[in-house]
Amino acid sequence: MNVHEYQAANVLASYGIPVNAGAVAENPAEARAIAEKLGTTVAVKAQVHTGGRGKAGGIKLAKSPAEAEAAAEKILGMSINGHVVRKVLIVPAVDIQREIYLGIILDRARRQVSLMASGEGGVDIETVARETPEKIVRVLADPYLGLQAWQAREVGFSLGLDAKQTGQFADIAIKLFDAFMKTDATLAEINPLIVNGEGKVMALDSKMSFDDNALFRHPDILELRDLAEEEPTEIDAKSSGISFVKLNGNIGCIVNGAGLAMATMDAVKLSGGEPANFLDVGGGASADQVAKAFTLVTADPAVEAILINIFGGITRGDVVAHGIREALDRVTVEVPIVVRLSGTNATEGQQILAAAGIAAVDSMDEAARKVVDSVGQAA
Ligand code: GDP
Ligand code: MN
Repeated sequence: MNVHEYQAANVLASYGIPVNAGAVAENPAEARAIAEKLGTTVAVKAQVHTGGRGKAGGIKLAKSPAEAEAAAEKILGMSINGHVVRKVLIVPAVDIQREIYLGIILDRARRQVSLMASGEGGVDIETVARETPEKIVRVLADPYLGLQAWQAREVGFSLGLDAKQTGQFADIAIKLFDAFMKTDATLAEINPLIVNGEGKVMALDSKMSFDDNALFRHPDILELRDLAEEEPTEIDAKSSGISFVKLNGNIGCIVNGAGLAMATMDAVKLSGGEPANFLDVGGGASADQVAKAFTLVTADPAVEAILINIFGGITRGDVVAHGIREALDRVTVEVPIVVRLSGTNATEGQQILAAAGIAAVDSMDEAARKVVDSVGQAA
């Protein structure tokens, strides 16, 4: 789960990290009032679950409350990478001496939590990683001891900070690590972490993502969820116990089991197609679940064919076949459907589908080829 910058900043502030404190406005008049209260030049910042707001014109400096109102007027309603701005954060503008990148991430390959830092802050870190990877420092936190102060200090010095700033940097890094661990985050990032005009180190832009599977133990963080920022079909799927992730291809996939769903996407790609989604209907494949899955998949206008891939283990092929037939009675599907059904009672299942005019095959590769061909023919 992602949260907005102002929410991430609040979480980090509660761990003792110095952030640029401000307030959120939902309309230009509120923005003006906040700027008046702050009584200084402010930055008006779009609050959306995406980066690169600066480049997109989603961050503007305003020298007076009237300017803040005008900036909010411009930014609210703007679309940044497909995210519509509904809120702006108003913070005191700060004098920036240096911009640093600091992030705590889970390094999946090393199976450890890792600190990443770079003197090239402010800009998008993916670009730094691609073009000048040597400008990124990484250190791994010991799983038992955590990130150690000496490690954080070493990083601070390597960024060219002086002794006093390195002390502040290390303190922030340790607190960021603490926040990451205690909130079950998957990412805690400050970009830029700045050195201001007085030489003080502070967070200017904060970002946090949290592990969905751990949210049950963080009701306070779950409250920060902004449904307006999430894909509506994904929210709908979640409430039906279906795991659904929208992708950019044209082959809709309906599969039982997460691993099989991943393998299905690979099979589609190997046959020259592009999956439109990841979808795991969960344990069984009842008519209800399959009908819901059809609704989710066909909601995407890009979908030109659907591949249903069911391996019957505990789930029986005949039950699934009935489920698919019943679902098709309820939901109108106008694109070709290819079914791969194997495992327990697959033969019975295939007969049931054949009687309904739906061809089913045994092999996943064959089904993937067929579904990709069906799109080729239609085009
Ligand atoms: P992002 O583009 O979405 O990552 O948004 P950021 O909050 O990181 O802002 C992008 C850039 O805008 C920063 O790297 C700064 O250079 C600049 N910026 C943001 N806030 C201020 C501010 O208060 N004062 C000044 N001078 N620049 C700012
Ligand atoms: Mn940033």
